[in-house]
Amino acid sequence: MALIVQKYGGTSVGSTERIKNVARRVAGWKKKGHDLVVVVSAMAGETNRLISLAKEVQAHPEPRELDVMVATGEQVTIALLSMALVELGVKARSYTGAQVKILTDNAHTRARILSIDEQRIRSDLAEGCVVVVAGFQGVDGEGNITTLGRGGSDTTGVALAAALKADECQIYTDVDGVYTTDPRIVPEARRMKKITFEEMLEMASLGSKVLQIRSVEFAGKYNVQLRVLSSFEEEGEGTLITFEDNRTMEHAVISGIAFNRDEAKITILGVPDRPGIAYQILGPIGDANVDVDMIVQNVGHDGLTDFSFTVHRNDYQNTLKILEPAVKHIQARGIVSGDKIAKVSAVGVGMRSHAGIASTMFRTLAEEGINIEMISTSEIKISVVIDEKYMELAVRALHKAFNLDQPA
Ligand code: ADP
Ligand code: ASP
Ligand code: MG
Repeated sequence: MALIVQKYGGTSVGSTERIKNVARRVAGWKKKGHDLVVVVSAMAGETNRLISLAKEVQAHPEPRELDVMVATGEQVTIALLSMALVELGVKARSYTGAQVKILTDNAHTRARILSIDEQRIRSDLAEGCVVVVAGFQGVDGEGNITTLGRGGSDTTGVALAAALKADECQIYTDVDGVYTTDPRIVPEARRMKKITFEEMLEMASLGSKVLQIRSVEFAGKYNVQLRVLSSFEEEGEGTLITFEDNRTMEHAVISGIAFNRDEAKITILGVPDRPGIAYQILGPIGDANVDVDMIVQNVGHDGLTDFSFTVHRNDYQNTLKILEPAVKHIQARGIVSGDKIAKVSAVGVGMRSHAGIASTMFRTLAEEGINIEMISTSEIKISVVIDEKYMELAVRALHKAFNLDQPA
């Protein structure tokens, strides 16, 4: 008998029929004698619907109130799933994040989990109940409802598994595991049986939304056994996120291609090339809590240089505003910027021991006539920024160039 935390995403609970299907699956696990804590997302499309509703009233909704509102999506599904379980003769009880309680900081719409009180869950489990918990939400120290950022139900699942020292955390979704790239973009993408935790962290942070990055960070910090599986298939081992030593695993050099359209690029032209300039530009942006991703400073000519960086698209307009006084102050020539960019990345721990990955990547893009605007590398990834309209082409070409469509 094991303690298992299962998380079902929006598509998996997208209709009452699907919720009944999830209930049948959960009942099956329960019948085998396992203890189950089940985390659910809002029904597919519901969180988006709630956000647009808020925007009809306030263009930039008050974050505290937005959290009160979007948290209702998950409150509906926990109740429906519990009812469906009871209907099947399985004892079940549902809880919101605040009821559990999942304590977070007060950063509305992107709160971090600080602690989880597992007492209530444990006593329900002891009584033989399936415990159903609302994903994506918590409560801060003052009793305000908070949410954990888009895709946050994954993090609720992993955090509960960590708090309860569960034997496994199973993330059920609409694909049967983690693929070499998003199968919606590249139909030839292959499911990986295993992926190292390090690679999963990079894939998630570079845009593979199959797992929210914070859920992967949590799994790493607390050593949670994490598996991604399909909620639509009866059988299947899915993908295991493994902590196995990289050196003992057989590796393809590149494990996957990740991409995102979430960033915007800002270039400051004609910046005086002298010490302290990067700080003068980026300091105020950091003070405003805006994360800067890629940064490139060109080689200077005649004492002037260009300075480019990317920020999340949500922070784009705000960043331009913040930059105005700094650009005047340092007497730069001006700003050019745009949000029609995409970041495409190749990820793999095998890169550590193989040369030539970057050149394969750049050659492939050149052959497709795709211009690279920015490059950044780390030990296990290479990312490029390109024009958004070539993103899918770039992903397909790189997937093929690294033989990811061939069996490993
Ligand atoms: P859920 O609602 O269950 O949380 P998500 O939409 O958040 O589901 O995540 C699943 C989706 O992630 C898939 O439908 C797929 O399109 C996308 N995805 C992106 N990259 C990958 C990848 N490398 N492997 C599998 N799925 C991926
Ligand atoms: N319902 C939330 C969202 O759509 C959380 C989640 O699905 O993980 O982002
Ligand atoms: Mg998700």
